[in-house]
Amino acid sequence: MAEKFDVIVIGGGPGGYVSAIRAAQLGLKTACIDMYSDRDGKASPGGTCLNVGCIPSKALLDSSKHFHHLQHDFSAHGISVKDAGIDVPTMIARKDGVVKKLTGGVSQLLKGNKVAFYHGKGRLKAGRQVEVSPADGGEAVQLEADNVILASGSVPIQIPNVAVDGEFIVDNVGALDFDHVPENLGVIGAGVIGLELGSVWSRLGSKVTLLEALPDFLAMADKDVSKQAAREFKKQGLDVRLGAMVKGAEVSKGKVNVTVEDAKGASKHSFDRLLVSVGRKPYTDGLLAEDSGVRLTDRGQIDVDAQSKTSAPGVWAIGDCVRGPMLAHKASEEGMAVAELIAGKPAHIHFDTVPWVVYTDPEIAWVGKTEQELEAAGASYRAGSFPFAANGRALAGGHPAGMVKILADSETDEILGVHIFGANASELIAECVVAMEFQGSSEDLARIIHAHPTLSEAVHEAALHLDGRAIHRGN
Ligand code: FAD
Ligand code: AMP
Repeated sequence: MAEKFDVIVIGGGPGGYVSAIRAAQLGLKTACIDMYSDRDGKASPGGTCLNVGCIPSKALLDSSKHFHHLQHDFSAHGISVKDAGIDVPTMIARKDGVVKKLTGGVSQLLKGNKVAFYHGKGRLKAGRQVEVSPADGGEAVQLEADNVILASGSVPIQIPNVAVDGEFIVDNVGALDFDHVPENLGVIGAGVIGLELGSVWSRLGSKVTLLEALPDFLAMADKDVSKQAAREFKKQGLDVRLGAMVKGAEVSKGKVNVTVEDAKGASKHSFDRLLVSVGRKPYTDGLLAEDSGVRLTDRGQIDVDAQSKTSAPGVWAIGDCVRGPMLAHKASEEGMAVAELIAGKPAHIHFDTVPWVVYTDPEIAWVGKTEQELEAAGASYRAGSFPFAANGRALAGGHPAGMVKILADSETDEILGVHIFGANASELIAECVVAMEFQGSSEDLARIIHAHPTLSEAVHEAALHLDGRAIHRGN
């Protein structure tokens, strides 16, 4: 007999485990199934985000930033260090420790909330029956539920003629685990993941070349931000080649030979390691039995409505396997909203106020519309901006690059978008998300008291500038 639950969640990433905990908090009998195993074959809930995504990449970004500052920035503070070195295995072990701590924490949270955890692969059948194939190869377990939440996440996109071997040609998993600093690192795709992981190894001494098929750099960001970012990253030594379409790669004698096509024709490039970071696609392999009743879109996403309901009654889907940005916080918010809807509570996700962050140095963060989107829509708006070079705290801290830009409706003054390139942009954007969530105006930001000296004063000044009354810059 199948064990009966109120809610079964398939997938234990930031979408799945968060929805399972929220469902359990709401008094629902909940199970969570996740198939991810660590190197020892043990369960490691937390999905891509905790195991091979957000967290390990940030751990390495922080380590490599320290090393970079030590070599390039500390002397200006009068600090000198002899023989600075980087021990890659120690850095990787620290990152692994952070991951272990957090995935262990998720296990404890699931347990503490009395979520039944199954380490294995879940498959949805008709009538919300779920079969679990245990990761240890044991006999399949049958479960059923009133509601099933699909949170199976995503996997890296592969491109033709570039075979990831995990050693010379890697995806995010391999690039988070190099055992030495590659002399030359090629990166296919100058998107978020390519820039972050490219930055890690560049700061440690790799010569990094990013090959990007599109003619524009960071096309989804506001043009003012992407222009400044391109300049800064170039100064840091990241070699970004735009309009460069990779056609194939092969490993020979310990080198990766890459064929690239650009406006000048085909050319060959040789690297010690090659990172393939050309985007991610929804992962639904083996998830749905033929009779599950769940429809996929032609892009392979699980088809859902605005409330995350799939085409099968009582079956919901969230996170990277559905439409919308592939971001951990978007997955988690959807997870909580679905749990609340199942428990009969109201819930709604505002996709317009999902913040985006690229954890380069300086960081890039934005929320809402870019100026080019507003222009294309024929919107009437005003823009204000403020450079960190005129912010006391940024200068004191030694990071004057970048700026804050605010876009607001010309008539109502409602904030339509905020774009930040600068130190701690990932934290500064939170205030702007709150303002937009409350349908705030640039005048609201201009009238809020910001502590001095802080980087957040740049947000304040950008709001003042929008109305022609910035204090610390010409208007
Ligand atoms: P996942 O995290 O992919 O989790 C899905 C889980 O379900 C996995 O454990 C998978 O093994 C399991 N699963 C799949 N199918 C089944 C099945 N049939 N049965 C059982 N289990 C199954 N996002 C950010 O917001 N900020 C960042 O800084 C950031 N950095 C990133 C850096 C990198 C290198 C990468 C690769 C991604 C990054 N992301 C970041 C994206 C983020 O990781 C994803 O958006 C997020 O993990 C999506 O969560 P999810 O729960 O939908 O899916
Ligand atoms: P993201 O989705 O943010 O990870 O970005 C992935 C990037 O990879 C996009 O900017 C794509 O244009 C780029 N890309 C995809 N295929 C190729 C290719 N064959 N060669 C170079 N760049 C590519």
